Amino acid sequence: MSKSLQAIRGMNDILPEQTPLWRYFEGTVARLLDNYGYKQIRMPIVEFTELFKRSIGEVTDIVEKEMYTFEDRNGDSLTLRPEGTAACVRAVLEHGLTGAGQPQKLWYIGPMFRHERPQKGRYRQFHQIGLEVFNIDGPDIDAELIVLTWRLWGLLGIRDAVKLELNSLGTSESRGRYKVALVEYLSAHLDKLDEDSQRRLKTNPLRVLDTKNADTQAVLVNAPKMADYLDDESRIHFEGLKARLEAAGIPFVINTKLVRGLDYYSKTVFEWVTDKLGAQGTVCAGGRYDGLVEQMGGKPTTGVGFAMGIERLILLLETLEQVPEEISRQVDVYLCAFGEAAELAALALSEKVRDQLPNLRLQVNAGAGSFKSQFKKADKSGALYALILGDDELARQVIGFKPLRGQGEQQNIAFDALAAHLATCVVQG
Ligand code: ATP
Ligand code: MG
Repeated sequence: MSKSLQAIRGMNDILPEQTPLWRYFEGTVARLLDNYGYKQIRMPIVEFTELFKRSIGEVTDIVEKEMYTFEDRNGDSLTLRPEGTAACVRAVLEHGLTGAGQPQKLWYIGPMFRHERPQKGRYRQFHQIGLEVFNIDGPDIDAELIVLTWRLWGLLGIRDAVKLELNSLGTSESRGRYKVALVEYLSAHLDKLDEDSQRRLKTNPLRVLDTKNADTQAVLVNAPKMADYLDDESRIHFEGLKARLEAAGIPFVINTKLVRGLDYYSKTVFEWVTDKLGAQGTVCAGGRYDGLVEQMGGKPTTGVGFAMGIERLILLLETLEQVPEEISRQVDVYLCAFGEAAELAALALSEKVRDQLPNLRLQVNAGAGSFKSQFKKADKSGALYALILGDDELARQVIGFKPLRGQGEQQNIAFDALAAHLATCVVQG
């Protein structure tokens, strides 16, 4: 195929054989979030570039080198959203959803775009489910966000493969004091830092803690710790969160190097990580961002949220073989009809059955074909039962009912009794 007719590198088609797993995953999350009282919000995929610069921060990997930015026909600079929080805050402010201190528990799902080096678990178009909570200040809501993800891992059967890492970044004042101490310490070891870290030391020193470079990591062993600089408010908040996680029986480890890539976090930050996916091990990440809304022009409004990477969680389900078998079967019953008269009767009959069993997954053969070829299609569809309608059956107003997966003998069912019969043998989702 010519190059122009291929998908863009790092932007993947999700093919029909994969969509059942995506829908199972998305459906499981959506039901869970309904149960916890979160409401869905849908934002546009494109926003003004300025929005991301102001919220994510100029000196971040995303804004410095990962955004898909272009000028539209009006000459406006637009960007394909690299994450969801900025647009969610923009929408909340634009529509006054957090006016008068009103709490909001929101979630969103959709594609995000970052110009990164594509590899397993890292793509240029990828999908996130994110939650954002506004105007709830306490550690109780931080705990709820973590508790509900823990429940999700349980529902998906991946609890044993993920680990919760936790840290507190303090308020911006205590972080400011910590930054001074960190910069002083690192400046004294400048020659041992990798090039990237030397640069970050000037632009965004906390990000040095994030380094993958072994020499820099060695220097960091004796660096000042954020925990020693936490103000009372952040410390009490963090203790409150840890107490709640312990009460809920959720194991966690404190990772003092966890800073997160985005500028806007304060107090709680956390990541769910797995060692089953190689280098792309973070499946869900988030934290508190109490200053962001104000920074974006709103009234002081606290916020906390997270986003999970759907591709990585799907990969994890596959790696751990936690894909439920039943999700790949998309047909319950396959109807084969032979000849014009039988086809007409089959259409009327199948529509009547659909009226009575709205959740039945009934596939009616299309494109005619011999007995053999229709039967082959029925089998390949994954259906549990085939229905067979030829001239003989039609004359007697019955239809052949044949189990395809070895549950009993073929029998004839009267047209009038078909829906009732199917209701007894097909579990309807
Ligand atoms: P990483 O350190 O892996 O680059 P990040 O800190 O940039 O992650 P966030 O912005 O916090 O990621 O996004 C939340 C989640 O979205 C990540 O934990 C991950 O699961 C997923 N994610 C982020 N970038 C990508 C990507 N390029 N491809 C696939 N999933 C991604
Ligand atoms: Mg990243």
